[in-house]
Amino acid sequence: MNSLRVLGGLILAACAFGASAQSYPTRPVTLVVPFAAGGPTDVAARALGQAMEKSMGQPVVVENKAGAGGTLAVSDVARATPDGYRILIHHIGMSTAPALYRKLSFDPLKDFEYIGQVLDVPMTLLVKTGLPVNSVKELAVYAKANKDKITLANAGLGAASHLCGLLFQQAIEVDLTTVPYKGTAPAMADLLGGQVDILCDQTTQTIPQIQGGKVKALAVTTTKRLDALKDLPTAAESGLPGFDLAVWHGVYAPKGTPRPVTDKLNASLQAALKDPAVVKRFADLGAIIVPADKQTPDGLARHLKAEIDKWAPIIKKAGQYAD
Ligand code: ASP
Repeated sequence: MNSLRVLGGLILAACAFGASAQSYPTRPVTLVVPFAAGGPTDVAARALGQAMEKSMGQPVVVENKAGAGGTLAVSDVARATPDGYRILIHHIGMSTAPALYRKLSFDPLKDFEYIGQVLDVPMTLLVKTGLPVNSVKELAVYAKANKDKITLANAGLGAASHLCGLLFQQAIEVDLTTVPYKGTAPAMADLLGGQVDILCDQTTQTIPQIQGGKVKALAVTTTKRLDALKDLPTAAESGLPGFDLAVWHGVYAPKGTPRPVTDKLNASLQAALKDPAVVKRFADLGAIIVPADKQTPDGLARHLKAEIDKWAPIIKKAGQYAD
């Protein structure tokens, strides 16, 4: 009798969950950003969230949960109730964290439902205006001669800015002092203020600063020049052959989120990526919307796995880890 009652309760709960999944969303959805407000991931999330509201019929509220190179937010969403009301946007850091952290409180390949890939964002290598260098070659010479004096900002171990800095230091064979921030918005504020010397960051934050002459841009990290900054050479053109880094982004929900909910989120994501306002905003910021076949759960799952495999040996070689 007792077990019958328990079974009945479970069936009722499952039906209620199913029904609420069908009517999802009935209240605001929180989109967690693993970095500080005003930075590249935040800018992308806000543009996307605003557009997703139209098809979701509910507000999409951005919450910045910064710290530990983005891993705090990933753990948080991995543990959230899998009902579609707390989801995550994250970038390439989702694929580098397993190699960078000896202990990680989440598994990117097991703890999430994948909603879809979003954007590829090139990065730019910047120095503060007062630094006496005007090219990557000059920076390499200057950095070697002043390696104990100059600083390289990043958004923590696992951030895209960390990865770019790592590749840059490897390429020029110098170890610089790094300064971690909770996002590249505060890192940029210190670059503008002259408190740090170098920052490599996504164009979603850097294009306005470069166009405004507030920082010196030395190179773009992809193999193709940017439409918005045609005179800026690529890293490869600047003497760093093979340097090719674009920061991909994806949207995730906790494992166990019901299929009707992930379907709704995916449909809303795909609609947002066709929204003319979003298309223009991202184009202005040098961000490239991924092709439709990547804006899918499978597209993101495949890409994530390939990226984990790609970065592990590179990070191992660089020998940078955190516990
Ligand atoms: N752009 C940052 C990074 O280096 C993160 C951010 O603040 O959006 O990953």
